[in-house]
Amino acid sequence: MSPAKFPSKRAPVFADVPDEKWNDWRWQLSHRLNSVDDFEKVFPLTESEHKALSAADLFRVDITPYFASLINPDDPDDPIRKQVIPTAGEIVPFTGMMEDSLAEDRHSPVPGLVHRYPDRVLMLVTTQCASYCRYCTRSRIVGDPSSTFSRSDYEAQLDYIRKTPQVRDVLLSGGDPLTLAPKVLEELLSKLRDIPHVEIVRIGSRVPVFMPQRVTDELTEILQKFHPLWLNIHVNHPNEITVELEEACEKLSRAGIPLGNQSVLLAGINDCPHIQKQLVQDLVRIRVRPYYLYQCDLVDGAGHFRTPVAKGIEIIEALRGHTSGFAVPTFVVDAPGGGGKIPLMPNYLVSMSDHKIILRNYEGYITSYEEPIVYQPHDPKTCRFCQSRRLEPGQQGVSGLLDSDQMFIKPEGFDLLHNRGGGQHRLRADENKWKPLGIGPGDEES
Ligand SMILES: *Cc1c(COP(=O)(O)O)cnc(C)c1O
Repeated sequence: MSPAKFPSKRAPVFADVPDEKWNDWRWQLSHRLNSVDDFEKVFPLTESEHKALSAADLFRVDITPYFASLINPDDPDDPIRKQVIPTAGEIVPFTGMMEDSLAEDRHSPVPGLVHRYPDRVLMLVTTQCASYCRYCTRSRIVGDPSSTFSRSDYEAQLDYIRKTPQVRDVLLSGGDPLTLAPKVLEELLSKLRDIPHVEIVRIGSRVPVFMPQRVTDELTEILQKFHPLWLNIHVNHPNEITVELEEACEKLSRAGIPLGNQSVLLAGINDCPHIQKQLVQDLVRIRVRPYYLYQCDLVDGAGHFRTPVAKGIEIIEALRGHTSGFAVPTFVVDAPGGGGKIPLMPNYLVSMSDHKIILRNYEGYITSYEEPIVYQPHDPKTCRFCQSRRLEPGQQGVSGLLDSDQMFIKPEGFDLLHNRGGGQHRLRADENKWKPLGIGPGDEES
């Protein structure tokens, strides 16, 4: 028998709202809280929050009544409150702060389309969200209702994807794609599905968390026409996992949409291994698989949310082995300047020799693994997959050093600095190549 499920508590100010209004996402959207007066009806604001709310060019504030009701009015440090109510910390600059910390604009061949990885693109389809996270990594573009993406932007984005056959995965984000009018979303998805090389589409959305009422049967009926479709939500703290979110996820799962979660590591909100463990366990219980845990970006306004990177490693240390393997997210630092996501984790490799590797497990138990004495190496010449592999120019990276005859990767300017011989020695075209048959560089040529 599953326990009886009660709807989440409403803030007293909303007690008299009829259920059919409360449960209507349009009502939730049009009754969002955004002013000192609105908030004071729900909980007394702190001095710091007051100050931030009256600051000039404050990043947009808007919170659905549902999400605001999850805040404990008596706790100024409530983990949900801190995600959505600005504080004076938001106005403080810090070393390393950037407007576009992931250099997304530089990677955009057309407005709103970020092509940073070889086989997939990020497609920003709106600047609007159901509520606004104070640490938003795209606060440079998000929130402004007068500057969102239009049909002609979509056409340019779609055109780029149509003429770029290596794009097999399109990630819709924004803003929040699930705030789009259903017709517009349907049209977009259908145009993407008409592109033969687009194998999968995914949506990044916090709508199920901010406004679970939006996940209607009508919405899931639209979405399930466009499989394979994946969806990542964004939950940072166990307090966000309510009966309403659970029901929304249930509908999405029943529509065959695999659900993942991306969370952001935030000081004073979820920078604790025990909170994180509860979060990931609650997520898998509602069939949402933790995907990424992000180190907080170096973005304008988010300085007070940053933790040391080590906190993320500590959290993964506390999760891996201690709970279900599929509940453990990958901790990533999204490289400032646009290097993409870089995964980090504790070290489990303790030492190695030519015949053994020494490993430690999550308990600190140290073991050894005997390496095979004979290993018939994989033969790329007879492997159909190796033969049909397509090179990604300039993107083979370290993996390219392993599986080709390329010898090294050099930082820019390296040759200039190390050519102290004075230029008599000109680099030959094949100098970045291992010679076949195991003859290394500097070996006498026979
Ligand atoms: C995160 C991201 C993706 C998707 O990365 P995955 O690791 O495949 O989830 C794609 N493009 C951009 C620009 C991104 O930031």
